[in-house]
Amino acid sequence: MARREFTNAVYAQIVKRAMLPSGEIVCEGCGLVLGKKAYHIDHTIPDGLQVDKSRKLTAADGKLLGVECCHKPKTAEDVKIISKAKHVEANYLGIKAPKQKLRGPGFPKSPKAERRQPKPILPARQLYKEIDA
Ligand SMILES: [Zn+2]
Repeated sequence: MARREFTNAVYAQIVKRAMLPSGEIVCEGCGLVLGKKAYHIDHTIPDGLQVDKSRKLTAADGKLLGVECCHKPKTAEDVKIISKAKHVEANYLGIKAPKQKLRGPGFPKSPKAERRQPKPILPARQLYKEIDA
């Protein structure tokens, strides 16, 4: 299912929550005063891991994170965790990876290899001999 995004109203609530009385915006991850630095509203629980997506997102579902200080590292970590969760679920449900296409016949035979004659098959050697008594 598609990722749920924060509505403008919820977005505004989160930004106001992260704002100091002086009007400066603070990263809710590490407390850094962001000033003019970029920030994102992060899904506290990655939306890819959310089972019930029918519920509307509220301000409690998001955190204002500075892009450089907190959001980039968290996103990289979240992507790994989401991928792992999807694999575990697929394995549990018995979903197999799609079959691979058949490989081609490989390289053509070299002229020398084409000239090669198969070796004659020798008669099998006897392991035991009869003893004349
Ligand atoms: Zn931060």
